[in-house]
Amino acid sequence: MLAARLHKFGEPLRIEEVPRPVPHEGEILIEIEASGVCHSDLHLASGDWPAFAKLIKLPLILGHEVVGGVVELGSAVDRELLGKRVGVPWVYWSCGECVACRAGRENICRSRMITSVSVDGGYAQYILAKATHAPRVPDELSAAEAAPLFCAGVTVYRALKNAEVRAGQRVAIFGIGGLGHLAVQIAAAWCAEVIAVDIAEDKLSFARESGATKLLNARECDAGAELAAAGGVDVALVAAGNKAAYDAAFAAVGVNGAVVIVGLPPEPVSFDAGRLVRNEARVLGSAVGTREDVRATLALAAAGKLHCRTESRPLEKINEIFDEMRAGKILGRVVLAP
Ligand code: NAD
Ligand code: ZN
Ligand code: ZN
Repeated sequence: MLAARLHKFGEPLRIEEVPRPVPHEGEILIEIEASGVCHSDLHLASGDWPAFAKLIKLPLILGHEVVGGVVELGSAVDRELLGKRVGVPWVYWSCGECVACRAGRENICRSRMITSVSVDGGYAQYILAKATHAPRVPDELSAAEAAPLFCAGVTVYRALKNAEVRAGQRVAIFGIGGLGHLAVQIAAAWCAEVIAVDIAEDKLSFARESGATKLLNARECDAGAELAAAGGVDVALVAAGNKAAYDAAFAAVGVNGAVVIVGLPPEPVSFDAGRLVRNEARVLGSAVGTREDVRATLALAAAGKLHCRTESRPLEKINEIFDEMRAGKILGRVVLAP
């Protein structure tokens, strides 16, 4: 099969023929229809995250927003699954027994396997998955629309849920990319007042179409100071992988507010402790989502309340897509069609 593999951190992926994998006990083989390109793959390929790089055995197929049809089953798998459409999220497998799993947080399972980190991902024609960890895709959604929900969608769904967003609250989303444009829609669907912050005008107009009522271009203003001067926000969700976005979010948070950590910059972030203390503000990290979160996110989309803007491109274009993502030129999500 054709696949895009990472051979060396910081180098372009290589498009090459690799053996088609064979499903073993508990596994299914999926013929991939759509595979979203998440900024996390670009961080991984660039070597931005040393802690994850240690878990990676090269060469590796990236891609963790995968949707396709089940074409082969390993042993001990329900025959009903054959021919069904499923997806593969970032959490490839969770143990069900560790302290995190027992607390209902399989997304941060202590011994989890991660798609596109510990096992090959979806920049390919086929992928293996655990039958227990590949949620079904509702018929209402095309493969391209559904794929990005397996990381981008579920991540912001859980992040907003963890922040306990309520109707009427002021919610600022920093970074209107693949994750951010979906966050705007979910927060708007929950009747929050949504403020979009980005450094590109096209992303901001797009945020308005997605339901944001206030737009701030962080290249042209001090977004954090502006939001603070207007009373501060209840939730500041950072969906950009850089420190400047965090600086603005920490400055913007208001009384009893929450800064939600989603974007993963390579450099450390910092904050003014006094501001958090004066506001009794919270800081919370949020990691992708559980299978229940995936199902909830898919259900929102199937009900027409969440639309990922996608553009399909051939697998062979992955390195150009990475270049565009690095330059902030992608609107919504690019989805590879192998
Ligand atoms: P993306 O490239 O699609 O979007 C990033 C957006 O941030 C772009 O629109 C860009 O213009 C904007 N941006 C850049 N600098 C900014 C600034 N200073 N202020 C405001 N906006 C700015 O990326 P994505 O795929 O949406 O991923 C975003 C981040 O989330 C990445 O760091 C990714 O690794 C991380 N992520 C985290 C989780 C998690 O579980 N916590 C899951 C998925 C992705
Ligand atoms: Zn991702
Ligand atoms: Zn576990």
